[in-house]
Amino acid sequence: MTALAGYNALITGGGRGIGAASAVALAEAGAKVSVAARNENQVVEIAADLRESGYEAFAFRCDVTDPRQVRELALSATEAMGRVDILVNNAGTATSNPLPKITLAEWQHILNVNATGTFLCTQAVWEGMVERRWGRVVNVASIAGLDGDKYISAYTAAKHAVVGFTRAIAAEGRAKGVTVNAVCPGYVDTPLTDETIARIMHLTGKSWQESLTSMLEQVGQPRLIRAHEVADAIVELCLEESSGRTGEIVVLDGSESL
Ligand code: NDP
Repeated sequence: MTALAGYNALITGGGRGIGAASAVALAEAGAKVSVAARNENQVVEIAADLRESGYEAFAFRCDVTDPRQVRELALSATEAMGRVDILVNNAGTATSNPLPKITLAEWQHILNVNATGTFLCTQAVWEGMVERRWGRVVNVASIAGLDGDKYISAYTAAKHAVVGFTRAIAAEGRAKGVTVNAVCPGYVDTPLTDETIARIMHLTGKSWQESLTSMLEQVGQPRLIRAHEVADAIVELCLEESSGRTGEIVVLDGSESL
């Protein structure tokens, strides 16, 4: 598929999990891609793998919570690719704790990475998209952005912020050629979910499989979603023919069994 040939995509948190799968899917769809994360090794490896497969790919180190680093990322990605047409705000992190145990530092960190990072990165590429009257912003939120569950209040608040930001900025991009959408997956098979399962094992003494089963049962999810399923949904929102789709919140809850 070369539907995105001629377009350039920047993916935050592109070193592993959903971000890496999105970089691969966008490259396979024809886009040039730039991947960014704090850990340079992982993004460098993803970009090198993509180049080896014949795609154009670049890697940058960036902490999305730092406004200066985000501005530099937007400049470097623009320099490398020519411009940024597609932004996937995927960088994110999660913790779980009952309310009395959440420290202010933890709360602020979760809000900063998931919500403020999304704001900063979008702002950094927005004006170029508006000037060219073409842009796609896809925010990776979560079903936690639409619902509430125990022990993940900071993450839930942050992802609700991402969903609200998506709807508001979609209104700003309307009639300017820039679409803004969010994907809201349930549990996805990524290193972040592995950390969650490890935490449940540690707290309950259950095996990996028992912990996974109880985690999925709690949210009524029949199976883990695969990262490439989320990536495919992201690519779809970036296509030329998706120009009429904005302000959408696309839920992937794994309810379709494989
Ligand atoms: P992973 O932990 O596997 O990957 C997260 C990526 O984000 C890594 O590349 C990480 O790299 C990067 N990252 C984390 N913090 C920062 C930061 N401050 N600045 C820049 N990059 C950062 O997570 P997933 O792939 O599972 O998650 C990706 C997104 O999907 C997140 O927004 C998450 O909330 C969301 N999501 C995940 C679900 C799941 O079940 N896994 C379900 C629903 C939503 P590095 O550490 O090197 O910076």
